[in-house]
Amino acid sequence: MPKFDVEKVREALDVVAAHESVPDSMAILLYAACDRIEKLEAVRESASAMLELMDRFESYGHVIDLLRKELAVLGANEKEEDALMPPTSLRVSLLSMTPNAEALIYAAAKQCVSEYDASVLFESAVNSHNVHDFDFMDVGGQVELIRRVMASGHLGVVEPAQFSFGVAGVSRALSHQLVRHRLASYSQQSQRYVKADGFDYVLPPSILKNFEANNLYCNMMELINQAYERLRKNHGIPAEDARFVLPNACETKIVVTMNARSLLHFFEQRCCLRAQWEIRALANEMLLLCKEAVPVIFEKAGAACVRKGFCEEDKCCGRAPRLKDVIPYGK
Ligand SMILES: Cc1cc2nc3c(=O)[nH]c(=O)nc-3n(C[C@H](O)[C@H](O)[C@H](O)COP(=O)(O)OP(=O)(O)OC[C@H]3O[C@@H](n4cnc5c(N)ncnc54)[C@H](O)[C@@H]3O)c2cc1C
Repeated sequence: MPKFDVEKVREALDVVAAHESVPDSMAILLYAACDRIEKLEAVRESASAMLELMDRFESYGHVIDLLRKELAVLGANEKEEDALMPPTSLRVSLLSMTPNAEALIYAAAKQCVSEYDASVLFESAVNSHNVHDFDFMDVGGQVELIRRVMASGHLGVVEPAQFSFGVAGVSRALSHQLVRHRLASYSQQSQRYVKADGFDYVLPPSILKNFEANNLYCNMMELINQAYERLRKNHGIPAEDARFVLPNACETKIVVTMNARSLLHFFEQRCCLRAQWEIRALANEMLLLCKEAVPVIFEKAGAACVRKGFCEEDKCCGRAPRLKDVIPYGK
């Protein structure tokens, strides 16, 4: 991902800030962002990630377009150095998953009704061939069987498929919610072993969009960082105690492993519009990766209403009918 040369960004900002359609408050915000890069020594997120984040806010769209144009004119994205803003943003990757997951699920489902050993079923599914002429074993047949079994609610068969994700650029507020999902395994970056000097932090969209709130928030992050570093460096406080001043916003990195059934449940809860925005963004990214990896398991995955066709939440967003409207005695 390209990173931006701060000098060039500043030059581009001068042009953009002078543009009549750019409000002063926006220009000040962008300049403040630029100042902050120069002050902070730690490696920062790439400017393009920040631009992508800001792109999501309509009101900033034209400013970002202008900035991008100026940066392109200046060739500012050539230099692999500083970046535009310290706030970080979500990064998710599928690190590993059960090999031949689809064949494994097929074999597990088929075992229930087959006289053959699972090893025979699995091998024929992996190689998509018909063993002993006893069954329809092509890929289409596998997919159809998995669909049928899942549709009948026998989700135990998808449990053997495991998925491990690397998650970074998320807040401790998010990880606290994430680890409430108990049918999973986690390895989280330690605040005892990894010093948080000049920590990265997550900037919620509602704050990013509000100039005064944004200033208050970013200044508070600086103050917290100063307190943290002083505790450690001036007062000899160990990181495990100094971290008590760190905010929920502090960036964390975590490896999470769930099986397919647990993931389906996680998506039901966390892709829902009632879920908090940051964990919803994470769940949506994980869902995309899963859909790409094993489409047949996750083709109908998503918020509970997507899977069930109705909503059980008290405060329904209106995307699907409520349970009590679908089944009069449902709730
Ligand atoms: C919109 C939203 C708001 C929330 N607000 C709050 C809140 O205000 N406060 C709060 O504390 N939490 C809150 N939560 C977290 C929520 O209560 C759950 O802890 C979290 O979503 C994990 O769900 P889970 O227990 O179903 O998942 P998992 O822990 O992954 O469990 C999956 C399933 O396994 C079964 N299971 C797991 N462990 C047990 C067990 N010990 N006994 C019996 N069955 C078990 C259950 O069927 C469970 O649904 C919120 C969650 C959402 C989505």
